[in-house]
Amino acid sequence: MNYQTVLEEIKEEIRPYLNKGTVANYIPALANVAEDDFAMSIIEIDGSEHHIGSYKKPFSIQSISKVFTFTLALDIYGKDLYKRVGHEPSGNPFNSLIQLEYEKGIPRNPFINAGAIVTTDSLVSKYKENTFSTLLEFIKKVSNDENIAFNKEIFKSELESGYRNFALINMMKSFNNIENHTQEVIETYFKQCSIMMNTKQLTKSMLYLANHGVIPNTNSEIITQAQAKRINAVMLTCGHYDASGDFAFHVGLPGKSGVGGGIVAVVPQKMAICVYSPRLNKHGNSLVGTKALELFTTKTRLSIF
Ligand code: GLU
Repeated sequence: MNYQTVLEEIKEEIRPYLNKGTVANYIPALANVAEDDFAMSIIEIDGSEHHIGSYKKPFSIQSISKVFTFTLALDIYGKDLYKRVGHEPSGNPFNSLIQLEYEKGIPRNPFINAGAIVTTDSLVSKYKENTFSTLLEFIKKVSNDENIAFNKEIFKSELESGYRNFALINMMKSFNNIENHTQEVIETYFKQCSIMMNTKQLTKSMLYLANHGVIPNTNSEIITQAQAKRINAVMLTCGHYDASGDFAFHVGLPGKSGVGGGIVAVVPQKMAICVYSPRLNKHGNSLVGTKALELFTTKTRLSIF
């Protein structure tokens, strides 16, 4: 299969959708993007790379960062992590408060905001003031790229406007599911969301999940095979919030989206993929990104189903 040709076809076929959807503007600094941008990368386990569009241009990874924090927390705490955050789809929007109250401050999964905040809190308990630098080093390692940083303007913008996330962390603190100072945890969470990466870097960073937890062509085991299986399963069932079923239905791959417009996806034992297009559908997932991945699995028959 010539994946470069597949990418070229996809780029043509998504063109009519490029002006549909809206960029995330509830975080003011996130709205400052080229709205009709598009990039897509594929990296195979053997190292072959295929890219199209603005694949060298960094964007805010937002909730894709939750895959990295989940990986680190699972590595430290193993199954004990699930005492504080579940692994079931929520069926609710990413920043919903409702379920969290009646489920006594235990978020459904690590990919909705509440669950990611608990996961980050668990890392702060372990790494204290070095939490963010540890996370950034981890991301540089799995991406095999030193040139990754967070965007201060986006971080500040989210800190100034993230009232819902403050509500979520305070509610969980009231249920004793946050161990550290809320301000420290929420700042770490906002920083991780404002990390900037391009589709090439993000694709590379997901290869360990396509390769049983090991960075391909190295002996570097990031997590065990069993844990890699779990992370992929949670990506499949919870990676797109209340549209996770729809993503499985149309695309059929483990994936994780971010409101910055990126989506990563994993084809087990074959490759990782990342697509970027900042306009979102009503569930907060990249509209063109979802479409592009659907076209990809249709053309290549690489859906896991
Ligand atoms: N930083 C975003 C928020 O907390 C992450 C949401 C997302 O990317 O889905 O609202």
